[in-house]
Order: sequence, then structure tokens, then C-alpha cells
Amino acid sequence: MNLYVKNNNFHFELENLTRLFFPDEKINVYREEQKTVTPYILAELADRVTVKAEINGFVSELSAPLGSDDNSNELITVQLLYKILCRYSGINQPWGLLTGVRPVKLFRKVCEESGVDKAKQTFLDEFFVSREKLNLAFDTEQHEKRILELSKPESFSLYVGIPFCHSRCSYCSFVMASIERAKKLIEPYVNLLCEEIKATAEIANRLGLRLETVYFGGGTPTTLNAEQLNRVLKTVNTSFNMTTCREFTVEAGRPDTIDKERLFALKENNVDRISINPQTTNNSVLQAIGRKHSVEQFFSAFELARKCGFNNINTDLIAGLPTDTVESFKSSLDSMLSLSAECITVHTLCMKRASTLTKEGVSLNRDDAETARKMLKYAQDSLISNEYIPYYLYRQSRMVGNLENVGWSKPGFESLYNVYVMDETHTILACGSGGVTKLKNQADDYLERIFNFKYPYEYIDRFDEIIARKSGIKRFYNHGADVSRT
Ligand code: SF4
Repeated sequence: MNLYVKNNNFHFELENLTRLFFPDEKINVYREEQKTVTPYILAELADRVTVKAEINGFVSELSAPLGSDDNSNELITVQLLYKILCRYSGINQPWGLLTGVRPVKLFRKVCEESGVDKAKQTFLDEFFVSREKLNLAFDTEQHEKRILELSKPESFSLYVGIPFCHSRCSYCSFVMASIERAKKLIEPYVNLLCEEIKATAEIANRLGLRLETVYFGGGTPTTLNAEQLNRVLKTVNTSFNMTTCREFTVEAGRPDTIDKERLFALKENNVDRISINPQTTNNSVLQAIGRKHSVEQFFSAFELARKCGFNNINTDLIAGLPTDTVESFKSSLDSMLSLSAECITVHTLCMKRASTLTKEGVSLNRDDAETARKMLKYAQDSLISNEYIPYYLYRQSRMVGNLENVGWSKPGFESLYNVYVMDETHTILACGSGGVTKLKNQADDYLERIFNFKYPYEYIDRFDEIIARKSGIKRFYNHGADVSRT
């Protein structure tokens, strides 16, 4: 698809919106004056805003008067493009013309600026969000509020990354080393990770920051053996001031990494929330997505975790997986309900560019979108009738049907960390490879990022650089974000 952008700088939004309708096509964006070549979309600002399209014999042109400023011109241009693409495709997107990751944060912002009623009207009439998704955004925002209020100006959360997995699932693009190739890296990685945690804690303690939540993600943190897990967890517990910590989560993730010793190490070290993720309770679907564990292993791991005293367990499901059906998804969801999992996170399959699925040329069509939509509808209705609440929500590009991921929980079991990350409420200090520290200036919402190296071997080889970059945390808090921006 060729996208011609004339006399405006809205190419980013226009490209993202076009991608919603053409997820598998390369979109060539031209910002210089050029002769159009079909198929094309042309968005032009002159004495009016005009959007034209010529795609596979479909020809359409819409125009509207100019707005009062750049922002309103951008919205008008995107609205015209959206209307044309809806006509072309016959599809109304569930989230309308919204393409961002955080629709709930946007909803809150519009509420703060104009009140709830106006925000609802804006979502429906100007962003063309469906009423169903508006209601979901509204409910999620209501439940998030209480959690956001707990955060204080000096609050922060800690993220610890363990970039190892036994094997790679076909839908995943996570940067990680497979256990076979990475076995030798794990021990030096764990040693350095403990050093980084200590160095980070020293800075946080000196600055008087207040630790709210800890989250171990990956990869699969429970790929580490019990002794290694114990060492890393203990380092967190003994280095940071844990008296203010409200939540300590470890993604146990893959059921095939869970055993008594590891669960005991988690329990011993004050971990009070874990994730055990089946993704589906259909063995043939697990096989189709290259997830090398069985449904039976998931149920055993869950039962073992309960026996070990874990009373806050999240389970992830994915709607829209290859070969899955609506009936099979319903059965997966019903199983999570019968286990009475405290949190059930319902993801929609995302066709990540670097995943095996995408590389193998798997593409999704309108039927797949409709199937995923039915799965989410069933999940939402069942979860609500079982008194679960939606407490965080986010979207990714290239999601099947342009739907969403929603964290549902029993009231009182919402994951605070998930809300803080998605809302960008406060600073996240990150340790481990792939970690991104996000320093938040409460006064003006400014975020400064410090990146750790992505791959474990880089992390090990260039560890001194990672420690040197930590001085950015001190600089940020001691001199203020304004200094770092000049
Ligand atoms: S277990 Fe999770 S992180 Fe590991 S490959 Fe599968 S989806 Fe990716």
C-alpha cells in the first residue's frame, strides 16, 4: 500500500491506522510531492482536509473544513481516512481509529480534561470506538483508580528480567536464549544480576525511594534452578527496603518449570503472587503453538502451587491461537474459572514480526478475527458473571481483530505492578538483560529511559557499562528531569 502524506506531519498516525486494515502489507509512506501509484491513499491539507483512496478498483474521496490547529487537523484527517477504510473493507474496528497501546490511559486523560460524559461521547463520536469497548475502558478505568491512588511521588517498582526459556513458543518474539544454548550463561548471569540488584538498591535507598511492587518476568524466571532463584530473590529481599512493598510477583510461566523446590524458594522469599500460564487447555493447540508442555502438567503445577500455599495465582489464556476453536477456548476459560484462579489474563494473539508464526508466513483473515471476537465476548461475559473485574488493559499492533489484552481479577487480587506499568504511574527500576528503567517525573509526566543490553551474552560481556548507566538514576532524581532534557 502506498500512503502519500501532503502538507502535514500526520504520517505516523496515518500509517498506524492504515496498518489496522492492511496488517500483512508493507506500507510505503511518501512525504514528498510524488505522482500517486495504485493502490494508494493520499492525505492532503490545503484549503480543506482531503483524503483520497484508490485500492483494487475501489475509489473514494472525502474532505472536510480545516480545524483550528494541528491537533484538530490531525484528528480530522485520521477520521476521514478511517471512514474511507471502513467503506473499503466493510469492517468497523472495535477500538475505532485508536491505535495506541493504552486506550484506558487516554480515556482517563479525556475524563480529566472534559469530564466522564464528554469523554464517553468523544470515544464514541470522534474516535468511533464501539460501545462495547467504551464500556470495557470505562470499567477498567474505574477499577484502576484505587490502585493508582496508592502510589506516592517517591514510589517505584522493581522489574527483574530472567531471559531464559526451555524452548521458544511459535507466537513469541521475546529475546531470549534457549536453555540448551544458554545453559553456560545462566550461572554468570545470575551472579551479575545479583550485583546489579545490589547496586540498584543502594541508589534507591540513598535517594529515599519507596518500593511498591516487585515483578520477576522473562523469559521464564523459573527456568533458574531453586538455588539460583533463591539467591536472586534473597538479594532483592536483603538489598531493598521491603517494608513498603505491597506485592511480589514471579512469573512461573511455563508449567514444566514448576516443582516443589522452586515453589518453596519463592515462598521462602516472600513471593506472594505467581503466574502459571496454560494459554489453552487443549493439548493439540499447545502442540500447534510449539509450547512444549501438556495441559496435565499445567493442572499439576497449579495444584502443587495451591498446596504450597499460593493464594494469588494468575493464569494467562490467549484467544485466537492457530487451530483453536471457540468451543475449545470456552473450555479453557471454564477450566480457569473452576480452578478459581485469582487472576485470569485474557490475551489476544498478536502476530509479532519476529515470531516463528509470522516467519513461517501464517497470516490471519477476517474469520480468525471473528473467532477471536467471539472468544473475548464469551470470556468477558463469563468473567463478569463470576464476579471478576477488568483491572488493566492494553493493546498491541498486529493483534488478531485489533482487539485487546485484559487482566481480570477477583476484587482485591488485582496486580498492582501491571497497572503501574501500563499507566506509567511511577518509576520502574529494571535489572537484568532486556530491562528498561523508566524514570518518571511526577510534575510533568516526563519519562526518561535507561536501557540494559538485550541479550544475556551482551549483558555479561558489557556489565560494567550497565552499572555505569545506573548513575542516570541519581542524576535524574538529584538534578531533576529538566536538567536531563536540556
Ligand atoms: S514461555 Fe513465554 S517467554 Fe518463553 S518462549 Fe514461550 S511465550 Fe515466549
